[in-house]
Amino acid sequence: MAIYGIALGVISSTACRNATRSVPFTVFDQMSPAEITEELKRRFRRARRVVVLTGAGISAESGVPTFRGGGGSAVWRGFPFEQISSAEMLARDPALVWEWFNYRRQVISQARPNAAHRALAEWEKRFQSLVVITQNIDDLHRAAGSRTVLELHGNIWRVRCLSCGRVTENRQVPLREIPPTCTCGGMLRPDVVLFGEALPGEVLHRAQAEAARCELFFIVGTSAIVYPAAYLPVIAKHGGAYVVEVNPETTPVSSLVDVTLSGKAGEVLPALSEA
Ligand SMILES: [Zn+2]
Repeated sequence: MAIYGIALGVISSTACRNATRSVPFTVFDQMSPAEITEELKRRFRRARRVVVLTGAGISAESGVPTFRGGGGSAVWRGFPFEQISSAEMLARDPALVWEWFNYRRQVISQARPNAAHRALAEWEKRFQSLVVITQNIDDLHRAAGSRTVLELHGNIWRVRCLSCGRVTENRQVPLREIPPTCTCGGMLRPDVVLFGEALPGEVLHRAQAEAARCELFFIVGTSAIVYPAAYLPVIAKHGGAYVVEVNPETTPVSSLVDVTLSGKAGEVLPALSEA
């Protein structure tokens, strides 16, 4: 893993440089969706194994708030996002955490998959293997029809019992009971990765394995600078994949990728389908 660590250091230092620069980005092979190169088209047509890493940006196009950006973290009832979504807060005040998740579930329940989600679901038929690795917890990829989805941060529609450990689906909106309880009487928690918690090891290992053996790796709607998701494009690149970024603006990861397609995922991905 040493090589990945070094490469991640490169990404992190790029992020720091970009953050302090007055001109916020450097352009690397930047182009509009209308300018999808012949090389990318050729690779897209020939690829058998494709991996797509998605983040908040793709869901934002469906109206799911990113709870980020705008120069600072979001605040809900006076609590910063990082605090109210933390393992520490769950231990201290589970009802408060559940009220926050109850609110988020209501917002997400209104969101529908967009053209980008639909394009990725379509790609499953096109390629021998198409794996979506997502940082999103909103389930919009599955709602669009994707079947192979690796959720790095869990799923807001799943709950896990703190007593018996059972994981079940729960789509009740709004929740009738806060905090909700399991049939065993134990308290349930959202089956999502909270701040201060590790990512699910099995999901992460599978994501790394898929990244290592794919021919095309897409980064969509995320700057992918947060460990351990940041490793994935590095692993893909190291394994010989052609790495494509789809983001409205150039991000710290742009320096690592082979090509950046600037634009909204909902426009760029369907355009690629036509390529
Ligand atoms: Zn239980």
